[in-house]
Amino acid sequence: MMRPNTLNLESLVPRHVQRFEPYIPSRPEEELRKLYRFQKLYRLNNNENPLGPSPQALEAIAGFHPASGCYYPSGDCFYLRQGLAERFQLNPDQFIVGNGANEVIGMVIHAFCQEGDNIVTADKTFAVYEWVASFSGLETQLVPLQGFSYDDPELLRRMNGKTKIVFLCNPNNPTGTYWDRSRLCRFLDAVGIQHLVVLDEAYAEYVQCPDFPDGISLLHEYPNLIVFRTFSKIYGLAGFRIGYLAASGSLTDMIRRTAVVYSVNALAQVAALAALGDNEHIQRTREVVQEEKNFLVPAIRKKGIPIQADQGCFVMLRMPINDTLVYRKMLQRGIMIRSMTGFRFPNWIRVSIGQHEAMEAFLAALNEVLDDAQ
Ligand SMILES: *Cc1c(COP(=O)(O)O)cnc(C)c1O
Repeated sequence: MMRPNTLNLESLVPRHVQRFEPYIPSRPEEELRKLYRFQKLYRLNNNENPLGPSPQALEAIAGFHPASGCYYPSGDCFYLRQGLAERFQLNPDQFIVGNGANEVIGMVIHAFCQEGDNIVTADKTFAVYEWVASFSGLETQLVPLQGFSYDDPELLRRMNGKTKIVFLCNPNNPTGTYWDRSRLCRFLDAVGIQHLVVLDEAYAEYVQCPDFPDGISLLHEYPNLIVFRTFSKIYGLAGFRIGYLAASGSLTDMIRRTAVVYSVNALAQVAALAALGDNEHIQRTREVVQEEKNFLVPAIRKKGIPIQADQGCFVMLRMPINDTLVYRKMLQRGIMIRSMTGFRFPNWIRVSIGQHEAMEAFLAALNEVLDDAQ
């Protein structure tokens, strides 16, 4: 008998997986250097901490005994959850730590959604909510932003009996707009408790507006609220992959069932616990980012380039030419930015705030690229 030698992927792979367009990660720095021939690379594409990891985390990492790498890590991030509980005055059971906040997005969606369910979010926000929903076979209701901000009444209108989760990013990546406390509470009150609300606070530590709501402090009032935080952004630990969620104990009890045990490695746990207590690093990072934003934004405005700058460690610029072309031309000059066409912002780029040298290099390169385009 002939053995067929090609797989029938059509029948093996669910339709929603076949239809999904995978995200293409950027190449490692050395590979980009060969392609684009830059001397030095400034990474302004991923909103990483311009000062690097928290020094206290670095110390903890240096103190990590490499030989203990043969042991499995704590499967539930025991000490880190204790640290989080102390810091936020909650029970350790109210936290679930993941391999980046990206992993906890998957846990939440898988814990609550099944075929036929949907999630609701904005069309221009962090894309991973929509991606996980799509390749999990769920529908996503994407509500267009209104003037760079979420459209609250339309979000409410789009929710139906099949809506399990509404995802809000506060402040929003990439537009930087935020829900103040009273607006958020009004929205949460209107949602009621028929649906879950995820508040993604990946950049919350950057926001200093007095009316910015701390989602974790709202957990007492809203049993359907789930808050995401990460160690990738202000704590400077993106490469270690560690983030977490906080919610009521009855929600975390359900969500934990979908967690893959041991997904958070031992070194990340040690680094995150040390970073959590490093208030000085957080303060310094906030100051540098504020200062450099205060430098960059007027410089861009002076050139007459449309800019969307609000909260967080990033800004968006509208280019007079194709954003993918800008991406390539900037890389030739050693500046990595994020082109935004794939995020439904054609011809916009997102730029992370870096140290002063990086901002000067960015402005110089942008001048050349736009002069070239004239
Ligand atoms: C960076 C980011 C995350 C999560 O990042 P992890 O590195 O997976 O922890 C989550 N939400 C938003 C809005 C982000 O920008």
